[in-house]
Amino acid sequence: MNYQQGNKIIYRLRQSITIDKESYVAMQFSNPFEILVSIILSQNTNDKNSSRATRRFVEKIGTDPRLVIKTDQNELSEIIKSSGMYNQKARTIKRAAKWVVERYDGDLSKSRNDDPQSVKNELLKIKGIGPKTADVFLLFYLGARVFPVDVHIKRVSLRLNLAKGDYSVVSKKLLNVFENPLEAHLMLIALGRKYCRPKAPKCNICPLNDICPSANIF
Ligand code: SF4
Repeated sequence: MNYQQGNKIIYRLRQSITIDKESYVAMQFSNPFEILVSIILSQNTNDKNSSRATRRFVEKIGTDPRLVIKTDQNELSEIIKSSGMYNQKARTIKRAAKWVVERYDGDLSKSRNDDPQSVKNELLKIKGIGPKTADVFLLFYLGARVFPVDVHIKRVSLRLNLAKGDYSVVSKKLLNVFENPLEAHLMLIALGRKYCRPKAPKCNICPLNDICPSANIF
């Protein structure tokens, strides 16, 4: 395993990017069930919308999954409306709450006693939770060595010629490039937001422009 390339990228990015936890919804909460809810609410929306929806969820319902199970489906949808796709997300949150109650007696912090891969396997059985949502929970809460891949990471990985393919291929390849997947995950998202945008990337001021094979080809 050779982390040389990844270390060089991270070193460069540290010079021009500061990780601001307000920009990453999963970093704004400490209770594990809140974290899981925030990740579900972040699906297909930006961190601002999902953060607002999670705060409203905590304010109106709290962090006890038993209270979520008791909450009326329409009421829950209304509470999380700002995150978009709220009916679908409300159903997923209710299923996740049921799992936490049945598997961990309502206390998701007990998942820290389990092997992260088995937690992931169980999360993936919940309809509405896919590999990225599960991996974000494993990385941010369980501190597992996994690499969640979102649209920014997929794009910058392709342009930097680090990885291409489906979710699991890119995720595995990036684990071989970066020593610290949490920092690299945050940095690559920030790179995608600040410089390596989908259209008109700012290659002229990107800190990686002398080592990136796609620099200035757009
Ligand atoms: S040089 Fe351009 S294409 Fe390469 S990572 Fe930077 S912004 Fe993206």
